[in-house]
Amino acid sequence: MKHTISELRAAYASGDTTPTEAIRSLSETIVSRDGDIGGYLSHDLETALAEAAHADLAKPLGGVPIAIKDLINVKGHPCSCASKMLHGHYTSPYDATVIRKLREAGAIPFGRANMDEFAMGSSNENSGIQICRNPWDTDRIPGGSSGGSAAIVASDTAIAALGSDTGGSIRQPASHCGVVGLKPTYGRVSRFGLVAFASSLDQIGPLTKTTEDAARLLQAISGHDERDSTSLKEPVPDYVAALGQDIAGLKIGLPKEYFAEGLNPQVRAAVETAVKQLESLGAETVEISLPNTEHAVAVYYIIATAEASANLARFDGVRYGHRAANPEDLLDHYKRSRAEGFGEEVKRRIILGTYVLSSGYYDAYYLRAQKVRTLIREDFTKAFSQVDLIASPVSPTPPFRLGEKLDDPLAMYLADIYTISANLAGICGISVPCGFAETEGAARPLPVGLQLLGKPFGETDLLRAAHAYEQSTDWHRQRAFA
Ligand code: GLN
Repeated sequence: MKHTISELRAAYASGDTTPTEAIRSLSETIVSRDGDIGGYLSHDLETALAEAAHADLAKPLGGVPIAIKDLINVKGHPCSCASKMLHGHYTSPYDATVIRKLREAGAIPFGRANMDEFAMGSSNENSGIQICRNPWDTDRIPGGSSGGSAAIVASDTAIAALGSDTGGSIRQPASHCGVVGLKPTYGRVSRFGLVAFASSLDQIGPLTKTTEDAARLLQAISGHDERDSTSLKEPVPDYVAALGQDIAGLKIGLPKEYFAEGLNPQVRAAVETAVKQLESLGAETVEISLPNTEHAVAVYYIIATAEASANLARFDGVRYGHRAANPEDLLDHYKRSRAEGFGEEVKRRIILGTYVLSSGYYDAYYLRAQKVRTLIREDFTKAFSQVDLIASPVSPTPPFRLGEKLDDPLAMYLADIYTISANLAGICGISVPCGFAETEGAARPLPVGLQLLGKPFGETDLLRAAHAYEQSTDWHRQRAFA
């Protein structure tokens, strides 16, 4: 189904289709198309049809099916985090707050989107369940960790999806698959019911076909939640209403460290053309500096792994998930349940995280990383005293080949360079389609995303600029499947 959320709502209103028909048609496309992509881990047609029968079309997302990354709890649905630890072992007993809010807005959670195991990865190759492919070239990665969410929106087997972004996991796959991906400000959206990877960095956000749809989903899921003390009591503006405003006079910073060595020339060209387009719409651009960028990858991979090692301690074979057969004693039970249940990358992160938190190394690594995190945050505070938004690439290269970086975790980590700082600083960011890169060996030119970063709770400016850019270009209308 090619429909955006707005188009689907219009089709419901005019009587062209109904939620029941839309869900049936979506399910047929999933069955015929997703075998080659692998973006869905499962979808429950019967439950969705039962909900569609009672859809309230007067609500903002009335009868709109939304696919959910497989680490957000939806009552009665499986939730595996694409891990053998939970796959086949766990059904959510409750709705995450974002799901409760989606339901209040009339939406229907439909389908579990593939991902890197426990959201650790940038290529979706760490999924413990199945490979996910880029719909533009099925020999290539869709990005990660919300690779499934991006791939199904891009291949029109979903109208829109929710993902999560700890270090780029919404923006990077959105960029690689040619869709819109928004990471809200830390504290904008409740994390209650999101399986935690790195709690000080995780945020849930939308992956959609247009910026307008991103605004609609953000509108529905935002706001304070007493069940998540890190969600803030900041009022929720009317994001959709802000879209029409022009961007004349908006000041956009171009961080020189994000346009430096290592940036693929085709990606650079697409992003620079996009910046010119923003200028022609009346934005003013100025070079800025984020001097601590060079430390961001190291800091992120210390803090994120430290938090992950604590968060994943709960998967011990006692309460949740996979349990080893016939353990000799309790220690053997823990060891084997975890060794068998977790994949390689998850184990690597738990070991790294445990190491940087261990006595003797805590001060040298974890504490130092926290201090540098403060410097990175201060870089942004300083930058945002001069500019309203920051523009940059999302990923240094077009989507790479499946398997290409699997043996080189460091190369994989380094590719997160432009996205992770936003999570360390807690600010908001979006990726919007801004062109295609001719890539050697690729079946066709591959999508490139433009990243815009905004001040804390600056989603209105972010969406307004992304929308203005999008409306003046044609990139978001190009589809992977004709
Ligand atoms: N690629 C990053 C990582 O592997 C980010 C993942 C994410 O945002 N969940 O940790």
